[in-house]
Amino acid sequence: MEIPITRTSLPKQKYTDESKLGFGVVFTDHMFIANHDEERGWHDARIVPYRPLEIDPASPVLHYSIEIFEGLKAYLYEDGEVGLFRPEQNAARMNRSAYRMCLPPIDEQLQLDAIETLVDLERDWVPRAPGTALYLRPTMIGDGCRLGVHSAQKHIYFIICSPSGAFYPNGIKPVRIHIEDAYVRAVRGGTGNAKTGGNYASSLLAAVMAQEKGFDQVLWLDGRENRYIEEVGAMNTMFVIDGVLTTPAINGSILEGITRMSVLELAGEFGIPVCERAIPVDELFEAYEADALTEAFGTGTAAVISPIGELEYKGKSICLGAEIGPVAKRMYDTLTGIQTGRLADARGWTKIVPRKHG
Ligand SMILES: *Cc1c(COP(=O)(O)O)cnc(C)c1O
Repeated sequence: MEIPITRTSLPKQKYTDESKLGFGVVFTDHMFIANHDEERGWHDARIVPYRPLEIDPASPVLHYSIEIFEGLKAYLYEDGEVGLFRPEQNAARMNRSAYRMCLPPIDEQLQLDAIETLVDLERDWVPRAPGTALYLRPTMIGDGCRLGVHSAQKHIYFIICSPSGAFYPNGIKPVRIHIEDAYVRAVRGGTGNAKTGGNYASSLLAAVMAQEKGFDQVLWLDGRENRYIEEVGAMNTMFVIDGVLTTPAINGSILEGITRMSVLELAGEFGIPVCERAIPVDELFEAYEADALTEAFGTGTAAVISPIGELEYKGKSICLGAEIGPVAKRMYDTLTGIQTGRLADARGWTKIVPRKHG
């Protein structure tokens, strides 16, 4: 589909110091937007200058958190091409989240065309320093002018782009994690496996409290028994126990990460045994005491792999050291190598953005 483009007449000044980009602070010149209503379905797909949205103050997104989002990155290769990592997985997950939140599905090919056309137009915004990327945030919101609690009558899908800095500007540093025993993020049957804003709203307080105590993030336990490992903030979790790469099974309350899926696929190729199952928090401590727990790490688009140096639960700690472990390191090197075009992509995971507008 040909997407009409209205170019900005006031291009923004581009940053010069990529080490100061941070995450989600700087936005590019343009955004993709499409509208949906019952009569017309999705329509008016277009790229326009980046600007505030105008929505009715009664819009369901503002009152009932009727919204979903995605997150993926565009990387600059050494030869100057720009590549995306498994974007079709993000488009498919967007529609799974849409189903859960009573939002209308949006054609996956349209999502991919929108991402590619926007990134092509903004290719000069893709940062080049090691570890940096252009972060893309596709979002769908319920729009409209009725306060009643029901599915929205109108919807907006948009994509904004933010050049983001290296997650590890000073080398990979393991994080300190608090295992949360009072608050929960999601329950079975809830919205934990949808990428929706409400999950983040409900998890903020525990994250703030953990940060006040010096932890980087919270690891959530399941909402039913407060016993099984779920995930960290915006990352899935993995553990190496007796040499087996062990991760919580998809159970409806954790997010099905694309990085998680990719790590599990790579582990299969590398001959590393994998086990997806329920992991009781006590088992982690027992495995640690028996010297069987050798690594813990998070997986997600932002950091790719985030080694966990310490896990604290009810005053007890698991300390895994200040260095990234061998499995985490191999996954990090392989994934970032494929994502940036430095390693051959035998799996068809990367998609080069065709040059048409940029
Ligand atoms: C996005 C997200 C992840 C990671 O998913 P990726 O596809 O690997 O980026 C994990 N947990 C939550 C809650 C998320 O929102």
